[in-house]
Amino acid sequence: MKAARLYEYNKPLRIEEVPNPVLTDPTDVIIKVAGAGVCHTDLHLIEGVWAETLGTELPYVIGHENAGWVHEVGSAVSGFKVGDPVILHPVSSCGKCLDCRSGEDMHCENLKFSGLTVDGGYAEYLKTSERALIKLPDNVDPTDVAPFADAGITAYRAVRKAAPLAKPGTKLLMIGMGGLGHIGVQVMRELGNADIIAVDRDEGRLAMALDLGASHTVIADKDMISQVKTLTDEKGVDIIIDFVGTDQTHEDSMKMLRKGGHYFVVGYGGTVKVPSLNIINNEYSIIGSLVGNYTDLYELMVLHGRGKVKLHSSKYPLDQANEVLELLHNGKINGRAILVP
Ligand SMILES: [Zn+2]
Ligand SMILES: [Zn+2]
Repeated sequence: MKAARLYEYNKPLRIEEVPNPVLTDPTDVIIKVAGAGVCHTDLHLIEGVWAETLGTELPYVIGHENAGWVHEVGSAVSGFKVGDPVILHPVSSCGKCLDCRSGEDMHCENLKFSGLTVDGGYAEYLKTSERALIKLPDNVDPTDVAPFADAGITAYRAVRKAAPLAKPGTKLLMIGMGGLGHIGVQVMRELGNADIIAVDRDEGRLAMALDLGASHTVIADKDMISQVKTLTDEKGVDIIIDFVGTDQTHEDSMKMLRKGGHYFVVGYGGTVKVPSLNIINNEYSIIGSLVGNYTDLYELMVLHGRGKVKLHSSKYPLDQANEVLELLHNGKINGRAILVP
């Protein structure tokens, strides 16, 4: 099959013929990939940011936002048959450890993460396990929904955590209106009641955020902090969801958060530096959020099925993987890019 593999950090992926994945465990499922979302985490993987944490041996196939059709099932698979359209939770969790039993798929002790610790979806076929699959309605094309598998649930999980705090009258700032942010705005519109202030560097993305449910938009430039203060009677916002996570967004966020405020860190790469005096004096809560659980993906697909959460995306052939990653790196992708093998 054709696949795009990472051979060397900071080098383009190699698009080449590799052997098809084969069933090895009775609960394994082989998926014919319909689409794979292209994510900032893919850029971070290529840069080697995850190398030490994951220790994955090179080369391997990246791509963790996958959807497709069941192609082959292991002998113990009972809930799916060949041809079923499915979206894949990005990890195969074991189902047996305490974290799995608590529903925390992302904390599973025996987790396999497609495209991070095992081969992913920048390929024609992909191996996962039955536990990772959610069946799609027949009228949904798996290609169209692939990015919900990570960009979608990552935004969903952070918003779900923030939603009980987002009461009427609450001011909530979302930083970054790209692949995650544009989904985050829609989910917050459905689950919470806050006034959403959307921040981005790009006017087009901010216009989209207004369409999707944001109340205000602020361009991310030197006047951003004063504009946010003006929108909040100089008090700052109650909640920030940071989908970008650079040194700059961390620093700015701590200047825009109101006393008692909650700062959800979703994007990553920078370092949060806050004097402990500020944390206690302002009673700040700083909360990390990692991808999402199987149930988060299920709930998000229900909202999508009701027409409440739409995905803004563009499709490219798998052969253009390196070009698409370059576009994403340069901030030229609106919404989410999907690679189609
Ligand atoms: Zn991702
Ligand atoms: Zn487990």
